Amino acid sequence: MRALSCFGHNKAAEFDHQRRARTDSRLSRCCACRYWCCTRQTGDAVRYISTRGQAPTLSFEEAMLTGLARDGGLYLPESWPEMVTDEIAALAGQSYEEVAFRVMRPFIGDTFTDEEFRAIIDRAYASFGHDVRCPVIQTGPNDWLLELHHGPTLAFKDVAMQLIGQMFEASLTRSGKRVTIVGATSGDTGSAAIEAFRGLEAVDVFILYPHGRVSEVQRRQMTTPSESNVHALAIDGDFDDCQALLKDMFNDLDFRDRVHLAGVNSINWARVLAQVVYYFTSAVALGAPDRSISFTVPTGNFGDIFAGYVAKRMGLPIERLIIATNQNDILHRTLVTGRHEKEGVTPSISPSMDIQVSSNFERLLFDLYDREGEAVTQLMTELKEDGRFTLSQGALDRLLEEFDSGRVSEDETSAEITHMAKATGQILCPHTAIGTKIAREQSGTAPMVTLATAHAAKFPDAVEAATGIRPALPARMADLYERIERVTRLPADLAALQAHIEQHR
Ligand SMILES: *Cc1c(COP(=O)(O)O)cnc(C)c1O
Repeated sequence: MRALSCFGHNKAAEFDHQRRARTDSRLSRCCACRYWCCTRQTGDAVRYISTRGQAPTLSFEEAMLTGLARDGGLYLPESWPEMVTDEIAALAGQSYEEVAFRVMRPFIGDTFTDEEFRAIIDRAYASFGHDVRCPVIQTGPNDWLLELHHGPTLAFKDVAMQLIGQMFEASLTRSGKRVTIVGATSGDTGSAAIEAFRGLEAVDVFILYPHGRVSEVQRRQMTTPSESNVHALAIDGDFDDCQALLKDMFNDLDFRDRVHLAGVNSINWARVLAQVVYYFTSAVALGAPDRSISFTVPTGNFGDIFAGYVAKRMGLPIERLIIATNQNDILHRTLVTGRHEKEGVTPSISPSMDIQVSSNFERLLFDLYDREGEAVTQLMTELKEDGRFTLSQGALDRLLEEFDSGRVSEDETSAEITHMAKATGQILCPHTAIGTKIAREQSGTAPMVTLATAHAAKFPDAVEAATGIRPALPARMADLYERIERVTRLPADLAALQAHIEQHR
């Protein structure tokens, strides 16, 4: 038996943990550092706690099916399972599926047997158009792209969503339950969710997207599936309006229970977990654990990059994690100023990052504030009421210890797509280009991996404008533009939306 790693190797945490150790018997001195921490033993099922500290503690299965916690918070494991150096080294040469199993296994408790979980993972990634699932390709002497767009909807969201679809099906079939999945999307989550859940027996899926603000490919991927359990909803508003409606629906506990609401947005812990895997596969392919690897991550909701932070907490040697934003740069400004302040959303050519409410940032805040639910609740209340909060000096220092950031304008994004096409022959989507630009500007000595979050054909107008080349859809979806669309347009109004869902589920 070995103790799992603690969640804060620092003085402030030590003080806090010492105080808590008096009332919580699981807290004692960590074997890996001299501080007080949670020393849950390997083999115990991981329990999930809310960032606001007021919701019941759940199992993995419960947290997965619930999405948002009942106190408005987000679920997180109560401590980070650790992989020791030998375990990481042993991942070299394994299939994506095998790495996925080993990395995620400690988080799922007894939700699935090993055999069930392996079968779920196999089914999830069989839909990918590349045997490696998430291949790494070289674009410079020390620069690499991690291609995450070989799934059915051509964006990285498939990596998590295909897995979630299979996990939901396995869990609900076993219990004989039926759920209503509601998601809000800036484009890619929605199509990925619809692909993952279309035709399943135990699930109705409703996807809210901002009317007129998603690309045609994104829209068609959501509106053309013909299965009766798929419902695409065009909302008159921006993505943040859609996300706010979603949160309000989850916070309406009567409605939530009545329709058996389940969430698969990037707030769902199972999605973050699935994304942790490709940090391991790519880092090991490039020499980890013997050398440290850096990552640049095009970021909106902070989900994808938070998965990198989790990989680091688990023991993967990550040198730097760089947040790459477009002109909607709330996260970059937070690092520069210490103030997390909403401004209006300006539509961009990288629409999946047109976000000013970065939901998963709350998970990081929880760690930055020593896992004090009260502190997080206070900050989130300020954000809701005043549109901003200011980080304490201690929290900001820790944030800057873990992350760097950069911002790329619209013109720079186009110029970067042009540059990469000339320099490497790679035709990048605008989101990925934001990553490669910042990666090049901030690269150091460690190998730099930029996450290629979508296929260029998902954003053909921006790519054609920059390169003169109109990227073609892969053959498996070449008839997308001919398929019949089915969508309901609704105002950004909670009552109207709830009525629609009750009638059509
Ligand atoms: C969702 C998305 C992002 C942003 O990911 P987050 O997890 O929200 O930070 C970036 N690029 C593409 C193509 C996306 O679909």
